Amino acid sequence: MARGFECGDGWFEVVDWLSAKIEAYAKLLPDQREQFCPEVIQVKEKFGGLRFYLQYSDQTTDGWITEAEQRASRTCELCGQLGELQELPRRQTLCDAHAGKTRSPRIDSNREG
Ligand SMILES: [Zn+2]
Repeated sequence: MARGFECGDGWFEVVDWLSAKIEAYAKLLPDQREQFCPEVIQVKEKFGGLRFYLQYSDQTTDGWITEAEQRASRTCELCGQLGELQELPRRQTLCDAHAGKTRSPRIDSNREG
């Protein structure tokens, strides 16, 4: 996947998961017609949620996309921790720390493991 990756690193795992599924699915398709190539053409954050755009989609890929979007809606876009949609100046899915809700002035220097 090369083009149009426009979202935070925290969602990498979700994007990676979906990309792998779609890639494997594309290989299983018996007929590789040009119009039937479920390749991810764009991944972006929109209104605080993750959005995938495929060159071709069907019920199977739509189901995975829905699952991936739901996962992203519970994942901080910046760090991958548990997050939720925050109504900041603009809508973003963030953990409490990245949403500025925790009192600790230090957010980034406290990483375990
Ligand atoms: Zn975060």
